[in-house]
Amino acid sequence: MTAWWDDSPLPPPGAFDDLCAAAGGGVRAGECRRATGGARALFSTRAFARDDVVFREIPALLVQDPRNVASARACARCHALLDETPTPTACAQGCGVTYCDERCASEHFSSGGHRIACVGPLESYSHPVAALKLACAKDDDGDGLLALLTETVARCVARAEEDAAEEDGREPPGEGGGGFLRRAGAHWFVRGPSSLPAARLESYATLVSDALDAAARDGTCAEDAKRAVLGGDATRAVSELVGLLSRNQLSVVVAANKPAAAAAAAAAAAAAPSSPSSDPPPPAAYDGVGVFPLVCLMNHSCEPCAEVSFEDAGAGRGGVRAVVRAKRAIAPGDELTHAYVDVDADVSARAAALAGFGFKCVCARCARARGGGERG
Ligand SMILES: [Zn+2]
Ligand SMILES: [Zn+2]
Ligand SMILES: [Zn+2]
Repeated sequence: MTAWWDDSPLPPPGAFDDLCAAAGGGVRAGECRRATGGARALFSTRAFARDDVVFREIPALLVQDPRNVASARACARCHALLDETPTPTACAQGCGVTYCDERCASEHFSSGGHRIACVGPLESYSHPVAALKLACAKDDDGDGLLALLTETVARCVARAEEDAAEEDGREPPGEGGGGFLRRAGAHWFVRGPSSLPAARLESYATLVSDALDAAARDGTCAEDAKRAVLGGDATRAVSELVGLLSRNQLSVVVAANKPAAAAAAAAAAAAAPSSPSSDPPPPAAYDGVGVFPLVCLMNHSCEPCAEVSFEDAGAGRGGVRAVVRAKRAIAPGDELTHAYVDVDADVSARAAALAGFGFKCVCARCARARGGGERG
């Protein structure tokens, strides 16, 4: 039996075609032609003018930072901000999670795996599923990583069960957990070893593994769900997933766009005429971590041609998505790049920040700075 992480690290050719088509067809996936960045890259298929939207993309996975939940109520499925929604739909099991409407609620409960991770019907915080949820909320220095891992595992379990039901309970021969994770999309992403300390990985693995055992006993997931997703070695599987997530996750910040917030900002600006004329940035409303397959294909450059931001399309209208805009004119066939780090920093500060991503930037600007000793 082959574990999913033993597969080829690169997705088959054409794996991104559906995603590119869904994103409007202005981009295509291909092999990276430069010495920097990953083995894969994203290219434009047509011309874009400066400030044009190149593509928008909904997340493959997204969780709200547990520390942000109290200040911003968002749909747990599509992550639309719900402050303007008069009657959000609550989880029917009473766990306190809210949604845009019944559709988001039922999708999250079934294919999103919320039925496994819901603490609504539990009577005690000592229940392993509640313990996992509590650990997610307390995982301050993990920046939402445990919450993202939990959502990923719940999604994979739900997917595994859908597949098993389709195949009349029989797993495809020779696939092990691989088939399920491939279909759940894990094979799309760059993988690598986790940089977390072994003790932290073991505690994550124990929390997740105990929660799945308990869910199987409670009947909220199939008995073999844990084996299907984590294989025979939960710590190894969690380590692989953490390595994948931490390499591919983006910090997702959506600025408040409510009329009330805009009016308050305008009033504050009018009351302080001596302040600089540029508008202050709107306050952040939603804060989370997510994985976006096409954005993940974009390599870093210190002179990027595109930038990534996030917007909320609204409750019942798709929720949070990534928006990639051209920073300058882009020609058909150009590689689409964005900045992984602050490009206003000088070359040595950028190199130090990029070392955390596991590569040394050899973009033209870095080459100029290193070669000629010029600043930049
Ligand atoms: Zn929603
Ligand atoms: Zn619930
Ligand atoms: Zn560079």
